[in-house]
Amino acid sequence: AMREKERAVLYTGDIGRRHFEEELVLEHMRRVLRDGFEEFHLAYQPIVDRSLSIVGAEALIRWDNPALGSVSPARFIPLAESTGDIMAIGQWVLYRACKQLSLWHARGFRDLFISVNLSPPQFKLHDLAFRVAGILKSLAFEGRFLKLEVTEGVLMDHPEEAVEKMNELRAMGVKLCIDDFGTGYSSLGYLRRFPFDTLKIDRSFVVGVEDDPSLQGIVRAIIGVAGALGISTLAEGVENERQLDFLMAEGCEMFQGFYFARPVPPEEFERLLREGVRVARA
Ligand code: C2E
Ligand code: MG
Ligand code: MG
Ligand code: MG
Repeated sequence: AMREKERAVLYTGDIGRRHFEEELVLEHMRRVLRDGFEEFHLAYQPIVDRSLSIVGAEALIRWDNPALGSVSPARFIPLAESTGDIMAIGQWVLYRACKQLSLWHARGFRDLFISVNLSPPQFKLHDLAFRVAGILKSLAFEGRFLKLEVTEGVLMDHPEEAVEKMNELRAMGVKLCIDDFGTGYSSLGYLRRFPFDTLKIDRSFVVGVEDDPSLQGIVRAIIGVAGALGISTLAEGVENERQLDFLMAEGCEMFQGFYFARPVPPEEFERLLREGVRVARA
């Protein structure tokens, strides 16, 4: 059957090819879900504060498949969202990430938090808070060490429900972060309605910020508004010293990016916890 599909693709141009590739990824993904997730693992990227100490880790899913190679989450997460498979994947990520953090806490890194991405369909689950509570309870894990990242999109459809859900999570101590801020449709004023703890400045505003006055203006405005609302700021995608210098000068509170460290396996993250991140100073 695989052969036939492969041959069909040769004759059906780009759209056919895209469709075929998605089908192929989905087929493999379904098998991974059936067989206990063993091709998935989590990478962890350090989040540092203004003293460049590691204060948190963002959990990022990785998939290494013998046939497909390493499949980017940017490719398979949207597919999983469209089929509903994201529910199972998301639950797995949440549990694994919390479990890893409890291990690090037990090893003495007691203040570290974990940041976990939630897909829009996950955020929309009516029993999201209940599910999160179940994981926290099974790991004897305090909610305040968990930060959930959501994108602007999930807020727009039913803002009242979103606020209600966020308040349920906050009642358990769970922190909320707005991811990729500035790329969606919401305005700065919209932020006021939602109880976020942290705002992640999207990487697209950080790339080139060191040389571009208009980007500097945008970043300055975002940090200013977040500050006025009591929301802490985190810049994602920091890749060099000059970007960091600018963001520091503007009062940004946390940073994440290749300049400090890439997403790494847990053993490597633990080494970073012991030794600290090393940055290349010009
Ligand atoms: P995101 O949540 O905005 O995650 C940040 C992405 O930027 C990660 O890509 C990370 O590797 C990358 N990144 C970090 N620092 C830098 C940098 O300095 N430069 C550049 N160029 N990139 C940097 P990744 O791991 O490929 O993930 C892509 C997206 O896939 C994530 O964006 C998130 O939306 C989604 N994703 C990843 N893991 C999960 C997951 O477990 N659940 C869900 N729902 N989504 C996930
Ligand atoms: Mg994220
Ligand atoms: Mg992000
Ligand atoms: Mg992003």
